[in-house]
Amino acid sequence: MIRYFISLLFIPFALSLHAQDSLPKFGSPVDFPIILSGNFAEMRNNHFHTGLDIKTGGAEGKRIISADEGRVARIAVSPYGYGRALYIEHPNGYTTVYAHLKSFSDKINAVVKAEQYAKKSFAVDFTPTETVAISKGELIALSGNTGGSGGPHLHFEIRETDTERPQNPLLFGFDITDNLPPVMRGLRFHPLTDTTLINGKNEAQSFVLTGQSGKYAIKAGTKISVYGAFGVSLHAIDFLNAASNKCGVYEVMLQVDGREICRQDFRELDFSTNRHINCYKDFESFRKNGWHYHKSFLEPGNELPIYRPLPPDNGIISFSGQGTHTAEYEVKDAYGNLSKLSFEFESLGKPNGTFAIPEDFEAYFSRERENTYEYRDELKLKIPAKSLYRDLSFQFSVQMKTAQTMSEQYALHNEFTPLDKQIELEISVRNVKPALRPYLVAARYPIAGGPAFIPVVIEGDFAKFKSKEFGKFTLMTDSIPPTMTAEKPGGTVTSTSSIGFTINDGRSGIRSHEAYLNGEWVLMEYEPKQKRIWLVVKDTDFKKGSNKLEVVITDNCGNQNRKSFTYTL
Ligand SMILES: [Zn+2]
Repeated sequence: MIRYFISLLFIPFALSLHAQDSLPKFGSPVDFPIILSGNFAEMRNNHFHTGLDIKTGGAEGKRIISADEGRVARIAVSPYGYGRALYIEHPNGYTTVYAHLKSFSDKINAVVKAEQYAKKSFAVDFTPTETVAISKGELIALSGNTGGSGGPHLHFEIRETDTERPQNPLLFGFDITDNLPPVMRGLRFHPLTDTTLINGKNEAQSFVLTGQSGKYAIKAGTKISVYGAFGVSLHAIDFLNAASNKCGVYEVMLQVDGREICRQDFRELDFSTNRHINCYKDFESFRKNGWHYHKSFLEPGNELPIYRPLPPDNGIISFSGQGTHTAEYEVKDAYGNLSKLSFEFESLGKPNGTFAIPEDFEAYFSRERENTYEYRDELKLKIPAKSLYRDLSFQFSVQMKTAQTMSEQYALHNEFTPLDKQIELEISVRNVKPALRPYLVAARYPIAGGPAFIPVVIEGDFAKFKSKEFGKFTLMTDSIPPTMTAEKPGGTVTSTSSIGFTINDGRSGIRSHEAYLNGEWVLMEYEPKQKRIWLVVKDTDFKKGSNKLEVVITDNCGNQNRKSFTYTL
C-alpha cells in the first residue's frame, strides 16, 4: 500500500524531468538538409524503430559527422543488423548512434582493424581500450547500406547513456520541417471477452474513416454498438513535409464521454521491451496488410514505457446498460501537429447476437506458465512461461513427408500469433540414417515465400532447435558445401586491386568465412546482400612477388568449401 502511494507521487515528478525544453541540442549528423525515410517509433516487424532514417540521396559515401563532442563508446561491425555502427558518448548524458555505415574515418578504422586482426574476425563489437576523443562536427564515417539496410541511408539514434534507452531524436531540435498533421485511416473495436459483441459479433470490427487536414470522422451512416468489455484501436500514421515516406505518430489519446481512457507517447523506448510491439499493434492486420493500428488498451505482456499515466482498467471499456456515448481520438506528431476524430457508439443492455462457438483446438496454453506439447514420439514442443502474449487455444496438424524433407511437416499454430520469446522444438531423427544426421537442418515455412533454415543440435534421437515464430516446421538435409566463385582466380594484381569472391549457400546459409594470406589470417569484408567477400591488396600484408590466398567458407551444417589462389603483386 505504501509503495503504491510513493510510486504515484514519484511518477509525475520523474516525467517532468523529461520535459522537452530541458533536452540538450545536438548538431546534425549530416552536412546536407535532413530528409527522413523513417522516424522514431514507426512500427516495424517485431520492433518499434528506435531512431531516424536519414536519406542520403539514394547513394552511399556521404559524409557523416559527430553530432557533438565526446568519445567513441562502442564500435560494431556485422554483416547483419546495424552493419557498421558507431556509438559516441557525450558529456551531456546521451550517446549518439550512427549505423549502416560504409566505412569509418581513418582514425576510427585503425582501431577497428586492430580489433578485427586480434579477434581474427570480420564481425566485432567492442569498446576501445584507449580513449578515442571526437570533436563536434568531426568527420567520423561515410554513409552506407551495410547490415539489414534495404537501401542507402543513415540510421541515427540518441540514447540516454545511463539507461541505454533510445530517445525520440525529433525532441532534440533538429532542423526538420513538419507542419502536416497525422493521418487517420481506420478505427477498430476489439471484443475482450468471449461474450462481448461488436455490432452483434464476437470479432474485432473495423470502421473506415473519412477526412483530412487534421479532422476525421467515421464514414456517414456507420453505426457501432457494443455489448460487454471491449477495447479500441486507431490506424494512424504521419508524414513529414519533404518526403512521401510513411512515418510514426508521437502521441495517441482516447477519451470516452469526456474521460481519458488511454494516452501513450513515444518520447522514449526500451530495447528490453521493444518486442512487446507485437501485443501493442494489431498484429494480424500489420502482418497481413501493413496497417498501423495503435491499441488504446493494454494486452497482457505489454510493458512498453509509453503510457502516461498507466491507463485505469488497462484501457478496457465496459458499460452496464443501454446508452449513447461520445468518444474522441487526438493524435499528435513530434512537432505538435494535431489530428482529431470524434465518433459515437451505443452500449447495449442485452446481447444483439450469438456468442462465438470456440474453434477446435489441440491444447490450451496459459501465458503465465511453461507449456509443453508432444505428438506421438515424433515432436516435442516447449513454450517457456510468458512467451505468449495471451492464453492460446493451440492448433496443430501434420502433413506428410515429401521427397525434400527428412521428417513429416508439423504445422504449429500459425504465424499470426506473435511470440515474445523463443519456443523450443525437438523433431525425432529415428527415421534418418545416422550418416545423414550431421547434415540436418530445420526449415520453417511461412504462409507465403520460401523456407527459412534454422541450425539444429542433435541430442539422442532428436534434432533440437528454437524459433521465435509459429509456423510449419520440418527437417531437411544440407550436405552441399557453399559455392565460391573468384572474380579473378589468380594472376597479377596491383596495390589498389580488390580481390573478391561471390559466396552462396542454398540451404542452411553461410556461417563463417575465413581467409589466409601466405598462411596468416587476413581480413575479408562481407556483404551478404551482394553475397560477396573481398579484400583490397594495399590494406593487407601482400608481398612483392607471389602470394597464396586460401579462402574457407562454412555453412550452418559445417559443410566447407576451401580453395587456394595465387596472385602476383
Ligand atoms: Zn533505421
